[in-house]
Amino acid sequence: MSRSADLFDRARAVLPGGVNSPVRAFRAVGGTPFFVARAAGARLTDVDGKIYIDYVCSWGPLILGHAHPAVLDAIRAAAEKGWSYGAPCEAELELAEVVRRRMPSVEMVRFVNSGTEATMAAIRLARAATGRSVILKFDGCYHGHADSFLVKAGSGVATLGLPDSPGVPAAFASLTLTAPFNDVAAAEGVFQRHGDELAAVIVEPFVGNAGFIAPEPDFHPALRALCDRHGALLIFDEVMTGFRVAPGGAQQRLGIRPDLTTLGKIVGGGMPVGAYGGRVDLMGLIAPEGPVYQAGTLSGNPVAMAAGLATLRETERPGFYETLERRTARLVAGIGDAASRHGVPVTAGHAGSMWGAYFAAGPVRNFSQARNSDAARFARWHRAALARGVFLAPSAFEAGFVSSAHTDADIDHTIEQLDGALVETLDR
Ligand SMILES: *Cc1c(COP(=O)(O)O)cnc(C)c1O
Repeated sequence: MSRSADLFDRARAVLPGGVNSPVRAFRAVGGTPFFVARAAGARLTDVDGKIYIDYVCSWGPLILGHAHPAVLDAIRAAAEKGWSYGAPCEAELELAEVVRRRMPSVEMVRFVNSGTEATMAAIRLARAATGRSVILKFDGCYHGHADSFLVKAGSGVATLGLPDSPGVPAAFASLTLTAPFNDVAAAEGVFQRHGDELAAVIVEPFVGNAGFIAPEPDFHPALRALCDRHGALLIFDEVMTGFRVAPGGAQQRLGIRPDLTTLGKIVGGGMPVGAYGGRVDLMGLIAPEGPVYQAGTLSGNPVAMAAGLATLRETERPGFYETLERRTARLVAGIGDAASRHGVPVTAGHAGSMWGAYFAAGPVRNFSQARNSDAARFARWHRAALARGVFLAPSAFEAGFVSSAHTDADIDHTIEQLDGALVETLDR
């Protein structure tokens, strides 16, 4: 028995499903998860000494790869000065200024400890600012695990096929309306019926929690116009896309100015950080400036802020995003080429260094089309890739990531291994 299998057995006795976040348990792809011993650059090493090229990258935060020296130095230097103060420190202010410079719509920002906290707080703020209660989200979009968002959600909810989670009161769920992503007519219909009850529309600008789905050109401009016409706020949940799909996130890439933005993942450089921010008149409602309460014992943690700052600084090197996007495009094209050579229908895409591939003829423009992809083949592909030392997200409904630590040679090697893995899924 491998040491990973051994540890997983032990873990199942003390952690539900053996993990602290559901998709890590590999249920959608079969097999048992490997336990990580250490990680550096583009590679993970498991407790049995096997090495994997990592396309999960901690589910998005590690745009520089693992244990980047500049981030490690920043973490070390910060920790030596004490790792939690419960009082303001300069790093919070510096990170806030960097966020505002990179995302001008975020005129003011509040740091929290996760993406989930960020979206919870943004919705509370939207409800307070508008005096309305109802929100609109899109099928397959994941906005963290707060009650209001576990309605037709993506990520682990999709992976495990959970409908709406037990424990979410029906009264809460009834305040969350849903529509298909990329469907302007459906969004218009919701606004026609509920326009004066809607506090906010929350959306993943590029969906990454139902696999990867790109928005059609008319979708976000239509949402912006509908919100403006009906006095609802537009919230871009950029927890995944922020500082990933462009230096200024999806809002820069798409040319849309949301009222509020939620952040996480890259903004903390792999430490537990989230943030929400936006128009100064809205953020002025947050305590202690205004009456909307939100707080956190560890919010603005100096070590976490230092990791976020060091990460964002590295991404400001000339050509950083261009190189990442080029490598990601090459990976996605390589997967597509292999698929067509073997006669397997694949629909693959990317935005910046966020990417995904469905075993489906396509197009995949919404969650129901994503669900019609061949998840059984994905599971076989995932297992074969893992055996060949390539770690893909263990679900057909998650995006993948390329980091600046992935070299051209890594990409070429990956394309070869994924081609071989695809061959192993044939003839069944
Ligand atoms: C990851 C993610 C979240 C939740 O963030 P956590 O830090 O896991 O709580 C919310 N929204 C989106 C778009 C995400 O990708």
